[in-house]
Amino acid sequence: MTHIQNFINGAFCDGAEGKRFEKRSPLTNAVIATVAEAAQADVAAAVSAGRAALKGAWGRLELTARVALLTKLADEMDRRAEDFIAAEIADTGMPAGVARHMCARGSANFRVFADMVKNVPTEFFEMSTPDGTGALNYAIRRPVGVVGVVCPWNAPLLLMTWKVGPALACGNVVVVKPSEETPQTAALLGEVMRDAGVPDGVYNVVHGFGPGSTGEFLTAHPGVNAITFTGETRTGAAIMKAAAEGARPVSLEMGGKNPGIIFADADLNAAIEGTVRSCFMNTGQVCLGTERVFVERPLFGRFVAALKQAAEAMKIGAPDAPGVAMGPLISREHQQKVLSYYARAVAEGATVVTGGGVPDMQGAHQNGAWVQPTIWTGLPDDAAVCREEIFGPCCHVSPFDTEDEVIERANAVPYGLSAAVWTRDLARAHRVAALVEAGVVWVNSWFLRDLRTPFGGAKQSGIGREGGVHSLEFYTELKNVCIKL
Ligand code: NAD
Repeated sequence: MTHIQNFINGAFCDGAEGKRFEKRSPLTNAVIATVAEAAQADVAAAVSAGRAALKGAWGRLELTARVALLTKLADEMDRRAEDFIAAEIADTGMPAGVARHMCARGSANFRVFADMVKNVPTEFFEMSTPDGTGALNYAIRRPVGVVGVVCPWNAPLLLMTWKVGPALACGNVVVVKPSEETPQTAALLGEVMRDAGVPDGVYNVVHGFGPGSTGEFLTAHPGVNAITFTGETRTGAAIMKAAAEGARPVSLEMGGKNPGIIFADADLNAAIEGTVRSCFMNTGQVCLGTERVFVERPLFGRFVAALKQAAEAMKIGAPDAPGVAMGPLISREHQQKVLSYYARAVAEGATVVTGGGVPDMQGAHQNGAWVQPTIWTGLPDDAAVCREEIFGPCCHVSPFDTEDEVIERANAVPYGLSAAVWTRDLARAHRVAALVEAGVVWVNSWFLRDLRTPFGGAKQSGIGREGGVHSLEFYTELKNVCIKL
């Protein structure tokens, strides 16, 4: 059986207290690996190793050498692409095509930010002084230091490297706490870092859980200079409290309850195709996914029928089975959560258009975390499944009559991560995009991402933005230097 270890100061190791936990397959619920749980002492060792790297070889590396090293790392990741894909599939059960797409973003996250730090513009001001000689001001960016990176399980490599890429490009060191559900790709990246020649202590991985475990040890550690987190809003709030001790900056990417808004003039096929992906891709475990669909009334009946047909055509199964579009949820525990919402929707009076249960699986897969793609109609906006993030392959579809009405209803939840608007009316697209409360709005598309653009959530979906210059902003300390002439 695979045993996954922490990666501290360039070496794989078990936890100081010898604790281990089991990782189960989402496909069968069988134990597929044991994982070394990092104790408080291991987290402290990782932070110290990071601090030493900042003072040592890594801290002294000049910019072009750092960029070259991270480019080499990205090349090495590409060379090991099949290993990353296999590890991601084993942990998550996602279809091979989805894993392939997500893992490709891993090396891209290093390449894009290595490229970007070569061309960071700076501010420069001449000023006059009382003695008439003048002074020059210029701003430089320095690394913030040791960055704590706390990650979720839904797109493990993609979301971790989305933070580690810019953090290292800016000259920081990281201590990564992967989700307890998905330890493998973070560990594999340790091997790749070592093979690429990244100095010891620059990239550290500590495995474990959240409260009372590794996550809390890391975020509470006073040697961590900044914390970047992706996960649930409740967890983000706990991390923000931990970061308040020592007044450390946080970047929080959190939950969503994202609307898809389809106007009657939309290209129906494109809107259906985009909405199907946004509801069901990765078994609905995408923070940017759609769980509330609003359709302009004249199109409502046709849209629901087409969405039902598309959902029912999705093949559910093992990652490598031909034609599979949807895998299991991450765990039996998450399956129970999603199924409890399926039951709640019925209890609250929903019409179940399709799904609502567990698909009929064969053999060992009968024990996996499977659920059916599910569509409801007929609920009021204040029903639980219309307000709370479920993080499963499901959506509620309701009709609307006016633009003002749909904007108000789309905004009537505490979240504000993303929205997808489908219309051929350009002026309306601009109006709705401006008024819908979300950090990311797609018009006539979904999940198109350019890594240079700002990314983050409004309201309880996030604090701060990452992506492009916004990542550079978070992962550096801007310093003004004033030189008297
Ligand atoms: P989670 O909040 O349960 O866990 C995320 C990470 O935080 C894990 O590594 C966990 O061990 C750790 N953690 C938990 N409690 C902690 C604590 N008190 N202190 C420190 N660390 C702690 O989230 P999840 O279930 O892994 O991921 C799903 C959630 O992530 C969904 O809500 C989803 O919307 C969100 N998400 C958001 C984005 C985004 O970009 N906004 C992207 C992906 C996922």
